[in-house]
Amino acid sequence: MSDRIVVQRPTRIEVDLDRLAGNLRAIRDHVRVPVMGIVKANAYGHGLVPVARHLVRSGVDQLGVAFLEEGIALRRAGIRVPILVLGGIFGPQIAEFIDHDLEITVSSLDKLRQVEAAAEAKGRKAVAHLKIDTGMERVGVHSYSCAAFIEAAVASRWCEIKGVYSHLACSDDPASPMTARQVERFAEACAHFDRLGAPMPLRHLANSGGVLHFPETWLDMVRPGILLYGVAPDPTARMTVPVAPVLSLKSQVVYFKVVKAGNTVSYGATWSSDHDCRVVTIPIGYGDGYSRALSSRGEVLIRGRRYPIVGRVCMDQFMVNIERDTAYNEDEVVLIGEQGGERISVDSVAATIGTIAYEVLTGLNERIPRLYIGG
Ligand SMILES: *Cc1c(COP(=O)(O)O)cnc(C)c1O
Repeated sequence: MSDRIVVQRPTRIEVDLDRLAGNLRAIRDHVRVPVMGIVKANAYGHGLVPVARHLVRSGVDQLGVAFLEEGIALRRAGIRVPILVLGGIFGPQIAEFIDHDLEITVSSLDKLRQVEAAAEAKGRKAVAHLKIDTGMERVGVHSYSCAAFIEAAVASRWCEIKGVYSHLACSDDPASPMTARQVERFAEACAHFDRLGAPMPLRHLANSGGVLHFPETWLDMVRPGILLYGVAPDPTARMTVPVAPVLSLKSQVVYFKVVKAGNTVSYGATWSSDHDCRVVTIPIGYGDGYSRALSSRGEVLIRGRRYPIVGRVCMDQFMVNIERDTAYNEDEVVLIGEQGGERISVDSVAATIGTIAYEVLTGLNERIPRLYIGG
């Protein structure tokens, strides 16, 4: 596998499976409730199936994805643990959920009726988690008007109500009063089960921010995504859980040259130097999801030192100024990760281009080969 990748192309994402398992263990030790590992968006760019497989091997209780097709891909790969699809559903998809044994997010009375009709037509119960909106205003029945919804769900013959959940809008900020309000609204919604004398389903509320900062959100299960991958939901987060970054992005020098004083580098001729300098070319670009916004702003590591990207990032390549230093063709280049004593974090890349780590990670696309190490 690694031989083939080197022949194809020296650019790769390295995914450290031992760190992934270590992060799961650290989260579990911290919260001491079951963990639903969130693997949507190609497992935050780390590779859906290999990551899910290793999480299962490492004892994750359940998986969560955003869309039906992600759940089907996991089932086709032979993954057997419970899988919740977090996104809103479309009526025609419901039969597929049932066929693939995927748990459904039911987010309105109307959708509950659709799920019941599809389940009855199949003669097989659907497994549902009820989605309550406590302040995100995305998907879910408002907590202040969910009584009839919960009553109908509890009475349903064709829906097994396995869970009830909500999503936190501000949990990455430990000082935000929003989370306490959402916790309270969620508790009010859950109280309807008691009022109806119905068994309480699994209550879950905590994303990574909840896991890090708000023990009152842990309840019966937690749903960490980015924290599993060793990255904070916000760069200022206090890392109360000892996790380590799982992903590295690496390439190799493909070309070396001297650029003469005053000559410009790359499209648009936006960069030049007032003296001769050594410039190397790296074979990865925005066509791989390495943002063009890093043009003349990003940095990479070569031979344990930090160097600037110069000129515009192209679709498949970009240039790096090493001044008077030495680098050779095939030298390793680290775009995200560690080399020597130096490190480039996902957070620093995100900060450079004014976005969040989530977007940098999920932007790294299928053109980059993934290499799984450890495990
Ligand atoms: C994406 C998502 C999560 C995980 O969020 P992180 O901030 O990555 O931990 C949890 N729950 C729901 C409903 C989500 O959509």
